[in-house]
Amino acid sequence: MPEHPLLSDSIHLLEQLVAHPVLGGQSNLSIAHFIGNFLEQAGIDYQYVTNEDGNKKAIHCRIGPAVDGGVILSGHTDVVPTEGQDWHTDPFQLTAQGDLLYGRGATDMKGFIACCLAALPKMKIASLAKPIYFAFSYDEEIGCLSGPIVAKAIREHYEERPAFAIIGEPTSMNLANAEKGMGVFETTIYSRAGHSSQIRTGASAIQEAAKLILWLEEKIEALIADGHTDDRFSPPHSTLQAGICHGGLAPNIVADQCHIQWDLRIIPKDDWQEILQDFLDYCQEREQICQTKVPEFRIETVPQYPFVPALDTSPVSSVVEFTRPLVNEPSLTSVAFASEAGQFAAEGFEAVLCGPGHVDQCHIANEFIEKEQLSKCLHFMDQLIEQLSS
Ligand SMILES: [Zn+2]
Repeated sequence: MPEHPLLSDSIHLLEQLVAHPVLGGQSNLSIAHFIGNFLEQAGIDYQYVTNEDGNKKAIHCRIGPAVDGGVILSGHTDVVPTEGQDWHTDPFQLTAQGDLLYGRGATDMKGFIACCLAALPKMKIASLAKPIYFAFSYDEEIGCLSGPIVAKAIREHYEERPAFAIIGEPTSMNLANAEKGMGVFETTIYSRAGHSSQIRTGASAIQEAAKLILWLEEKIEALIADGHTDDRFSPPHSTLQAGICHGGLAPNIVADQCHIQWDLRIIPKDDWQEILQDFLDYCQEREQICQTKVPEFRIETVPQYPFVPALDTSPVSSVVEFTRPLVNEPSLTSVAFASEAGQFAAEGFEAVLCGPGHVDQCHIANEFIEKEQLSKCLHFMDQLIEQLSS
């Protein structure tokens, strides 16, 4: 594919976006204001959606006519941390080496935002029959926290209704119509401390945690055995796993507390609430057994954030039909990561994922994006503008 004439514009924008080291969970005002100023200079009306503390802003805007239909282009402004990673360049200074551009967020997913902004002047002068919306969120990397907020803001702010959402997460510019859902839970086991020799008359919070962790592992097997599989994904089933476990004071003390943080990633046809309920039922069973020895024994489970729904857009949906001609590779893929796509779909916008960069570049040291991927994304924007123009 030939180099796109806007490639150097997009690289210049990417350089500026990468220079805002906004991690998930942190204030994103600097990058939000940078994008806001850019839109303002382009003469585009835009809206901030500010969080309660006033330190984070999502942005949305519309380019083109105030009519029903059109497409939302969605991206997130935050990135994952770089601490402890072996970076060979400054992660927050975009560094070109040949065809590769190194920097945190180059792929996930400031490359896509840079292409949206670089294509904006073209969008503005095109005779769009249907509008293009931008939707840029914050705190995506810590649980897609503002996806539902910005999707709802778009639905409520504009009288007219966009039809589709394209989430520009890295898919190597292929079209993805399915992704797994995701939730993270913290489970705490409260028991009573005692001398280790008295374990038979007490209940170790750590040993009870071990039973719960084994339950998570066995649940995967049970789901597979019950036919809960979906070959579009790797692995082709839902997963549960404990990633953090803390507890205990000393080897000779029966542990009075233990915390587990575990995640659940579901294929679209599985019901996360049902799986969680099965887990809670097992916790209750263990509580009843342990309370015969330690009356105050209890297990509490709280979600870390609202569940991020899976995406399962039909291969014959209008959004797939619309987006297919915009990409080179018409076959559909699915992605293993969670994104805001399911959240936009839940708000009534048919959603797919398509963005520059390769997923194996995400979240690692020396993250880069190929210039060619940016070029492909800019060609995609051209096609999009053309398809929406009268
Ligand atoms: Zn991302």
